[in-house]
Amino acid sequence: MHHRDEADLIIRGGRIHRFDAEESTATALAVRDGVIVALDEKAEALRARDTVELDGRTAIPGVNDAHLHAAWLGARWPHLFFSEDPAAHQPSGRLVSTPAERHAALLRAWRLLAELGITSYTEPGIGPGEDEGETGCFGTGMLDAYVELHRAGAQTSRVTMLRLFGTIDGESTLEDFERGLRMPAPQTDPRWLAITGVKIFADGIPPLATAWVQEPYADGTTGHLLTRGEDPVTAFRRMVELAVRDGRQVAVHATGDRSIEEFLLALEGLGAPTASGPHYVVHGDLATPDQIERLRRIGAGFAVQPLIAAHTHAWAGAQLGPARLATAWPLREMLDAGVLTTVTSDAPIATPDWRASLDAALALLGADAVGTRRALLRRMTADAARQDGAEAWKGTLETGKVADLTVLDEDPLEPGRPFAAAGVARTIVGGRTVFSSGS
Ligand SMILES: [Zn+2]
Repeated sequence: MHHRDEADLIIRGGRIHRFDAEESTATALAVRDGVIVALDEKAEALRARDTVELDGRTAIPGVNDAHLHAAWLGARWPHLFFSEDPAAHQPSGRLVSTPAERHAALLRAWRLLAELGITSYTEPGIGPGEDEGETGCFGTGMLDAYVELHRAGAQTSRVTMLRLFGTIDGESTLEDFERGLRMPAPQTDPRWLAITGVKIFADGIPPLATAWVQEPYADGTTGHLLTRGEDPVTAFRRMVELAVRDGRQVAVHATGDRSIEEFLLALEGLGAPTASGPHYVVHGDLATPDQIERLRRIGAGFAVQPLIAAHTHAWAGAQLGPARLATAWPLREMLDAGVLTTVTSDAPIATPDWRASLDAALALLGADAVGTRRALLRRMTADAARQDGAEAWKGTLETGKVADLTVLDEDPLEPGRPFAAAGVARTIVGGRTVFSSGS
């Protein structure tokens, strides 16, 4: 039993950005049973078994990458799809086959994420549709590996998982979707492994001319929906409806304006749906201002990837033409509209280093002010927690919320330096240090 004047841990001696509604900072923070119990002088007044001295460093809420394929990342590491070296080796074929290999992939990813200061992420798409999949990274075996490591207490980052009833980046049938939705998700502690949502692939990507678009590509095609049933649109709408009515959060991979529109029409037709978390568009490359506003109005959001925009800009331009390219990746419009938006990596497509994603976002916005930096960091902390349906207990540093913190060598809100210059000094999850640069 704890005494009221005792804490497990006190963090002090630097600046703590809380990212609360008042955007306040704290000088100290006390933790008991993994939860923040006091701030500032009240925290300093407690007796603590352990102390973390910031030595002038800056702490922020733990970074949450709201779209990151950790199993795939761990299996491929250190190989990313977008690499500075065009001749870099690209692993192919089956990457993991046995339970031991699946465990190793997850543990490798978690170690890497801890080193990067990431305390939460969304694993966007694991399920039976990938049991025969090429890589072995997205099937039921990987779900089992997650649950086993979760039950063994081996996690060093919190996970929100979307289930997948079709193939990754490919087609899904209404029949498989209905069958998958009926399978109960394993029982887990949702603060560590929340298996609440479903992922649906609506279309492809603009550079391959597979995003489903209103205005044809240079070659006259428009892309198409990836859902299959009586007809693609009916199957897609039915999938969204079934999942929403089942209380599931629905995340739809949609890059083209036609597929985003279909998702919107489905959600609007269902009224204001309540779920385990807000529904959202993954990517949203070609979202129009009207669609951004309508998504905001129904409480839905976007998970976007500025690094993918940076890497594929020229390539996509060849398909989209200059006028449409100029309006693609509308991050500025999303921020201005106030629609729920998370900035994510989609690793291992791009690097899981969130600082690189935020630097790409600064470049995309053409701005570097304290307010811009704060807005972007919120996309990987407070707003990512909203996407997780978890803003009541994580994402900001307030009493009663979990003590997940990322400690940086310099203040990431200071303009003029890239985010990448801020070294990760320590990663704390639930009051426990899972990475320290000094050890
Ligand atoms: Zn992805």
